[in-house]
Amino acid sequence: MTKTKIWLSSPHMGGTEQQYVKEAFDTNWVAPLGPNVNAFEASISDFYDNEVHTAALSSGTASIHLALKLLGVSRDDDVICQSFTFSASANPITYLGANPIFVDSEKDTWNISPELLERAVLDRMKKGKKPKAIVAVHLYGMPYKTREIHEVSKRYEIPVVEDSAEALGSSVNGKKCGSFGKIGILSFNGNKIITTSGGGALLTKDNNIKKKAVFLATQARDSAPHYEHTSVGHNYRMSNVLAGIGRGQMEVLTERVKVRRANYSFYKERLGHIEGIDFLEEPKGYYSNRWLTCIITPSFEIREKIRLALQIEDIECRPLWKPMHEQPVFQCFESYTNGTSSDLFKRGLCLPSGSNLLEEDLNRITSLILNNLS
Ligand SMILES: *Cc1c(COP(=O)(O)O)cnc(C)c1O
Repeated sequence: MTKTKIWLSSPHMGGTEQQYVKEAFDTNWVAPLGPNVNAFEASISDFYDNEVHTAALSSGTASIHLALKLLGVSRDDDVICQSFTFSASANPITYLGANPIFVDSEKDTWNISPELLERAVLDRMKKGKKPKAIVAVHLYGMPYKTREIHEVSKRYEIPVVEDSAEALGSSVNGKKCGSFGKIGILSFNGNKIITTSGGGALLTKDNNIKKKAVFLATQARDSAPHYEHTSVGHNYRMSNVLAGIGRGQMEVLTERVKVRRANYSFYKERLGHIEGIDFLEEPKGYYSNRWLTCIITPSFEIREKIRLALQIEDIECRPLWKPMHEQPVFQCFESYTNGTSSDLFKRGLCLPSGSNLLEEDLNRITSLILNNLS
């Protein structure tokens, strides 16, 4: 019997996406601007109760790049970055010729530790160089310690770029992730909670920042009849065709979050009672979109046994993110560590978490895990 592949997190269309894409073709707005881009941006801002302005861009990575640039990060600056994350949180720091300084995580949310962050800031200041920005990440959809991190940000007047690529739909005490930082970013890559195939967005309360982001994303063209440039631009705007997909996806976002959270509950119910298997619980007031359900196993060996057993059955799963301070490419940069992310990387596993998983898929996955625990 051949079984179908189970993906970690695959695209899940809602049904109206093709209508908006068709409109783009019918009206010949096959360009990096147009009605779908405007409407997609409006639907995102609306999701945030219009607390933020939205610039739809070509990727989450491009959004982080522009966010750092708009905060004035330039050559030889230091930028603090959560170490436990996907490389795209850190890469744009180096595009600007700046140095990432990696900070490890705390155990409650797996995100940047407020204590270690403050220690890092003080140490950098003692060495005569205050960091220009902080990249904090809501990993796997779990919000970072927003109150504590933003207190540090305020105390030392260092702005936060809020990497909310994995956390659209998450919130803390009702306030939505993406709206805490000076600038927030989203990703609509194919494996994220909703997708435009590829895409991203920059969120900000400051309309001037939004305008500047769009200006830089469209080749930094000054107003003149000819092409006049006083700054270096980028080609980072979102396509009007892809924004059509995004409009349709925004209509089902709340539903997608519900299903991802139900996946988490299913895994928790089946595996939560097992000695040595741990889940990432929500601290009080925290609401995770549960982009990916992750488990922590008792040891690297058991994690590998489970991972390989799933892999043989064509079930996609992967270790948690390898911390940036352990990545060969970032070895030359400084870090402030406490062992948390290193341990999570060794023992943790991301389980299939798509909103289009079937109950029989979830049953198959949990049975395989239960059979490979020792
Ligand atoms: C996906 C992701 C990004 C990058 O987004 P892209 O749209 O793929 O460029 C950045 N940070 C985190 C934490 C991500 O998961």
